[in-house]
Amino acid sequence: MRWTEIEVSTGSRDQLVDVTGAVADEVRKSGVENGICHVYVPHTTAGVTINENADPDVARDILAGLARLVPAQGDYRHDEGNSDAHIKASLVGFSAMVPVIDGRLALGTWQGVYLCEFDGPRRRRMLLGLTGAKQEGPTPS
Ligand code: ZN
Repeated sequence: MRWTEIEVSTGSRDQLVDVTGAVADEVRKSGVENGICHVYVPHTTAGVTINENADPDVARDILAGLARLVPAQGDYRHDEGNSDAHIKASLVGFSAMVPVIDGRLALGTWQGVYLCEFDGPRRRRMLLGLTGAKQEGPTPS
């Protein structure tokens, strides 16, 4: 499997950053025609999810819903003061999988891949693992 990395700069404490284009670029560069794109976030207060990227209110509502589920202040012991961020990251998870079909991410019409920031702003990393059958001939640049 070929692993590559993308870097994402987040701009606020809680933010969903649409990384679909950057992930699609790595798929194209890999030359994988039919296979799997694994997305992994190696952090404890950021995660990854797949959801609607047509209406930006959906990303806003996801963040608002998570904030209602996991209040910033609570009966937390972790003295870094960001337990809500750790909990939200565990809820969304740290990995996602997208099928690659005919050289493209096989996302649904309204789906996008989001880095989920819960303790920004920071620079975040995403690892992309691409596996599968490559096309014949030269890899597109
Ligand atoms: Zn912490």
